[in-house]
Amino acid sequence: MKLSLDTPLKNLKGIGPQKEKYFNKLNIKKVEDILFYFPRKYLNLKNVKKIIELKEGEVVTIKAKVIAREEKKLSFKTGYLKIAVSDNTGILYVIFFNQIYLKNIFQIGKTFIFNGKIEIFNRDFEIINPFYEEYEGKRTDWILPVYPLTKGLSQKNIRKIVKLLLKNLKEFPSEILPLERRLVLNISNIKHALNNIHFPVSEVNLEKARNYLIFREFFIFQLNLLWKKKIEQKSDENLIFEIDENLIDEFEKNLPFKLTENQKEIMKEIIIDIKRGKLIRRLIYGEVGSGKTVIAIFTLWIFAKIGFQGVFLCPTEILTHQHFINWNELFLSQDISIGVLTGSLTEKEKEQLKEDIETGKMKVLIGTHAILNEKINFKNLKVVIVDEQHKFGVRQQEILKEKRKNVHYISMSATPIPRTVALTLYGNMDFSILGDLPKGQRQIITYLFSKQDSEKIYSFIKFQISQNKTGFIITPAIKENENIESAEEKYKELCEKLSGIKIGLLHGKLSKEIQKDVLKKFREKEIKLLVSTTIIETGIDIPDVSFIIIEQAERFGLAQLHQLRGRVGRSGEIGYCFLIVYNEDEEVNERLSSFIEKESGFDVAELDFDLRGPGDLLGTRQHGIPPLKIGDIRKDIELLKLARKEVERILKLDPELKKMSYLKKFIK
Ligand code: ADP
Ligand code: MG
Repeated sequence: MKLSLDTPLKNLKGIGPQKEKYFNKLNIKKVEDILFYFPRKYLNLKNVKKIIELKEGEVVTIKAKVIAREEKKLSFKTGYLKIAVSDNTGILYVIFFNQIYLKNIFQIGKTFIFNGKIEIFNRDFEIINPFYEEYEGKRTDWILPVYPLTKGLSQKNIRKIVKLLLKNLKEFPSEILPLERRLVLNISNIKHALNNIHFPVSEVNLEKARNYLIFREFFIFQLNLLWKKKIEQKSDENLIFEIDENLIDEFEKNLPFKLTENQKEIMKEIIIDIKRGKLIRRLIYGEVGSGKTVIAIFTLWIFAKIGFQGVFLCPTEILTHQHFINWNELFLSQDISIGVLTGSLTEKEKEQLKEDIETGKMKVLIGTHAILNEKINFKNLKVVIVDEQHKFGVRQQEILKEKRKNVHYISMSATPIPRTVALTLYGNMDFSILGDLPKGQRQIITYLFSKQDSEKIYSFIKFQISQNKTGFIITPAIKENENIESAEEKYKELCEKLSGIKIGLLHGKLSKEIQKDVLKKFREKEIKLLVSTTIIETGIDIPDVSFIIIEQAERFGLAQLHQLRGRVGRSGEIGYCFLIVYNEDEEVNERLSSFIEKESGFDVAELDFDLRGPGDLLGTRQHGIPPLKIGDIRKDIELLKLARKEVERILKLDPELKKMSYLKKFIK
């Protein structure tokens, strides 16, 4: 039987309709899918430990014979199964909780392989809910693959089928690089890799196989990103506009402050892109307060000047209004009409706005996601700018993806990401960093407190406020909630404990009028202490806040904590950030202790990344990054960089992929 990569699973011997369904559940439909269905771990039977050598806490593989069994039923579903196994050097107890039905598998006299963590209980060695499988006497494979399973499939089923494929495959998937390059990069070949990832001959071969496959995965991923970037950003004569760089100076004249060099540089980059007729795809990163907005405004202003429309999408309604208040005058003074679209407009107002946009009378539209939900016929939309894109929902991201086709697109973010990650994950975008803060570097001191320290905190607050300072108290929830501190409860508590101090409450469920009013009073220092949810995290420009106290800090991500503390300590004074920890377990303490030592967003990002991996970074999933099967951006960063370099090298030598046209089949 000769098989090709496209052979459907059901054509394989031993896969009936039922098994086929189970495989489908794992997203396996054809031969190729199963080749790339990788084991989650391996059992190395050459490294089997003797029971006499066991140590507490070790994760080990044991081969032993069942000598006794005992079951204890506690209720219909609960109970445990305790099995004594021996390898002639000692006895180990294997315990399965709530899986008494396994007892028929572990028949006395049969030999099994177990893999799990050794624990000691009453001076006996125990292994709880381990991985197990029956040991088969005659062996050719010493390193056994262990696959992620689904109901209805066993390790044996998958191993058997993988074996069959590897043996009968007519042709392996195509190679990504010619031999010379693979030698230079020190990576093996696809046949070796697939054979050894499933049935490694040795640990060394397994390592080689992993290296090859991780490299291959990253290579294809980068190839797609960089190719897309090339296609999207291809110069287009229709997009070329002659723009004078002096426009930056002209723009600056309308501002109440001088632009920083850094801001000007990014504006120049944008002008250069426009002059070249390149479709802009740019991510601008800068901490809270670094002055990103003015770059967005500049871009909208330029396009309005050459007669085109632009959209500025903001994550919240307050922010939208704030931008409008801050910038409306500048646009008006230049006869550029700007409008605001949020969810709270009446139908009539919306209709009017849409009409003005359709006729082209209105050039700049600022608003929330409401813009994405409306059907608007722009006369000549040329640029979309999004602030904190990851704050938008998945569905809105989808719409956005559609809307930004063929228009310039700038994404702004204050969520720190490690540089390497930014360059690789967002490899299809240009990347600008707004490094220096226009109002001078902030000085923030971060402390860790426990919930028991509340008296200390109250006196700190009283003292600060007596010095005419103001501050935030941040809670993870709005309303009363069993285990989560809420703004409403905290507000009540503080009003009692700190009577005499004017305290405000802010969260997203309050009406927009109340929100605006509270913020105004807070800005004018009528309200001294503002209890709020993370609604203040994004953008709102509040000057001179001296301290921020974050309740139940363990519920926030590090990037978010960093963004929150970015709200304090401007104007040359030291700001304070207190993290109040409710749940003092070790992991929490370690994480937050490391955090308080980090000052820059990039350092926090690296830390966050080390602790949690890339999953949460700036909505990686929302950016349409394919789930990786084997590579781990964090652990395999060197291979990722290597793959990126190789793709860059290829596209430099052969930009149209004419010589290496076979690579096009990896581009989706
Ligand atoms: P973010 O990057 O967080 O969006 P903003 O754009 O809201 O930051 O800017 C924060 C504050 O700094 C605003 O009040 C803004 O007007 C001000 N700002 C921006 N650029 C400068 C500058 N070059 N000099 C002085 N103040 C500036
Ligand atoms: Mg902002």
